[in-house]
Amino acid sequence: MPERSVAEHRPEVAVLSCSDARVPPSHVFDRPAGALFVVRIAGNTASPEARASLDYAVGELGVSEVVVLGHTHCGAVAAAAAGTCGGHLEPIVRPICELARRNPAADAAELERLNVLATAHTLRQHDGPVGEAACSARLRIRAMVFDLESGRLDELAVPHANGQPIAQPFIRTGNQPLNQPLNQPGNQPLKQPLETT
Ligand SMILES: [Zn+2]
Repeated sequence: MPERSVAEHRPEVAVLSCSDARVPPSHVFDRPAGALFVVRIAGNTASPEARASLDYAVGELGVSEVVVLGHTHCGAVAAAAAGTCGGHLEPIVRPICELARRNPAADAAELERLNVLATAHTLRQHDGPVGEAACSARLRIRAMVFDLESGRLDELAVPHANGQPIAQPFIRTGNQPLNQPLNQPGNQPLKQPLETT
């Protein structure tokens, strides 16, 4: 029986994740019902619907942190990396295909990281509550990649809005095993400032 919550809708954090069945955010972050506001879309891209959903989380529910959650072996990224950019997948893969065109040397694994960073960048630039809150430092946007093989969460350094290119080297800031709360000692709490290295 799934856990249920009828408490007030006050999630701690919003997560924009891929729809992949192997990466359920509540599982990955070990959070109970009511803790995470989750938006899922194949390829974890910042579609208009995803942005509007996050605007609601930030503007109406008071969420102060958004995590963009990608993962290894992502089918949407693999499709884009293979040049499958049209047909019924087009709305999903278009932004990832554009990334692939701008980074022709990137393999699928690198594209997965670039895609998470690109989504975080798009959210920061968004002309809505999410972008406004991010620019005024009321909202923190984080980027993470879940490794299906090891169960690790790797956090990527999200460049600031003032200019660094998003295609910068991947920076690993910590490993968090699956099913371990992020706010336990030894892990990075969701609310803790990102280490700047
Ligand atoms: Zn995926």
